[in-house]
Amino acid sequence: MSLIVKVGKKGKRILKRILKPTEKHYVCYTRRIERVKTDQRICAMTFDDGPMGMPASPDRFGGKTLTDVLLDTMAEYGAKGSFDVVGDTSANYPDQAGKLGSAAWGGIKFDHYPDIYCDDKGGAEHNDRLIRRMLEEGHQITNHSYRHIIFGKKPFVYGAREYLAGLDAAVEDLDRLHQLMKTRYGYTMMLSRPPHYVDKMTDGFTSYDAYDRMEYQYMAASFDGAGWLPSTHTDPEEALQAEVRAMIEPIRNALEKDPDFFCGQIIFQKDGYNMAKRTPVAFALGEQLKVLKEYGYRVVSVGELMEESPFADVGRDDPLFDKLTELVKEHAIVFSDNRLRLEDKMTIGELAMLLSPKKETLERRAAIVRKHKKAGAYDGAMSWCKEQKMIPVSAKAEQMVIALPDRYFEVTSDFTRRGVYAAYRM
Ligand SMILES: [Zn+2]
Repeated sequence: MSLIVKVGKKGKRILKRILKPTEKHYVCYTRRIERVKTDQRICAMTFDDGPMGMPASPDRFGGKTLTDVLLDTMAEYGAKGSFDVVGDTSANYPDQAGKLGSAAWGGIKFDHYPDIYCDDKGGAEHNDRLIRRMLEEGHQITNHSYRHIIFGKKPFVYGAREYLAGLDAAVEDLDRLHQLMKTRYGYTMMLSRPPHYVDKMTDGFTSYDAYDRMEYQYMAASFDGAGWLPSTHTDPEEALQAEVRAMIEPIRNALEKDPDFFCGQIIFQKDGYNMAKRTPVAFALGEQLKVLKEYGYRVVSVGELMEESPFADVGRDDPLFDKLTELVKEHAIVFSDNRLRLEDKMTIGELAMLLSPKKETLERRAAIVRKHKKAGAYDGAMSWCKEQKMIPVSAKAEQMVIALPDRYFEVTSDFTRRGVYAAYRM
C-alpha cells in the first residue's frame, strides 16, 4: 500500500494500466491487422492523412508536394506503401485552429488536411494527379474516411471534437470515399483505419461493425515511425533535426539489437504536417528505408504483407496454413487482434461463428444492437445456429465444444480450434 502512495500521480496511472484487465478478444469478420507472422525480412509502411498537395515544411525540395517527395523517396528504394487517404475536409466548418504543437493544431472541432483553410490542397477529392501516381507506381490506397471525423466521443485529447452520429453515418462517410476510388479509378479499397483510432460509437456499434459492412479489414500498425510528434526545441532547425533523429534512431537501434525485429511489422507514417507544422517524414524516410535495406528488408504495402500471411500468429510453415487462408475468406475464425489461438479449446460461440453464414450473423447482431444498444459478440451467430438446430437451444456461447454437427465435420475428438478447423468440411 505504501508503495502506491509513494509513486504519486504518474505512478498511479501506470498502476491503473497494469491492473486493468487485458482486453477481451472475440472471433469476428473484421480483424485488427497490426503485424503478420513471417520469418522473411519483409515489412510494411502506412502513410496517414494524405494526399498532401502542399510542399514539405521546411520546403527544401523546390516546391514539390510532400506526397511527391515521399513517392520519389519510395521509388528510389523500390519500396511500396499503403497510403491511408482522406476524401475532403472542406465541409468541416465552422472551426478555428487550436494551439500549435497541440492535438488541435489544425482545428478544434474537426481535422483539416493538410491544414485549416487549406482543405482544397488535401484529400483524394482535390489530388487526382497524386492518386494516379500512387496507383501507377504500385502503392496501395486505403480508406481513412472521407471527412476524417471521429467515429465516437474521445474525451480528454479530443474532448471538443464533433463526432459522427453512429454506424450509419460512419458507413456513409466510408462509402463516399470507397465510391470515389471505385468510379474514378476502378480501384477497390480493402483496408481502413478510423480517424484517431476511435472505435466506440455512441449507438453501441464500433468501427468493426462499420468495416464488416464495408467488407474491410482494420489496418493498424505495430511500430510508430514518430513523424507526427513535434520536438520541444525552440529553435526550428534544431527541432527539425531532433524530429528527424527520432524517426530514424529507434529503427536503427531495434535492428542492431535484433536484425529480424521488423519481420512482418507495420510502420506508422504520416503524409502531412506534424503537430508543429513541420514534415520530418520528408527528411527521414530515405534514411529509414536505407537502414531497412542494409538489413535486407523489402518494404511493401500492407496488402502485400497480408499475402505473406493474413494472421499474426500462424505463418506459412503451419501445416494448416492453406486450409486456414481458404477458410478465412468466408468464415469468422480469427480473433479481433488477428490471432487464431489454434491450440486452445474452442467455445460454442466460436463454433457458431464458423457455421453461421456471414450475412445472417451480421444482420442478426445489428438488430440486437439497435434494440438494446449492445450485443454479445456471438449473439447473431448463436441465434441462427439454434434456429437451424445445429446447437442446443440451451447452449451458452462461452461453453466449450463437446460435440460437432457431423454434416459439417469429419469424425474427430479434438476440440481445440486446430482440431475443429482441421476437421471442417469446406
Ligand atoms: Zn488521421
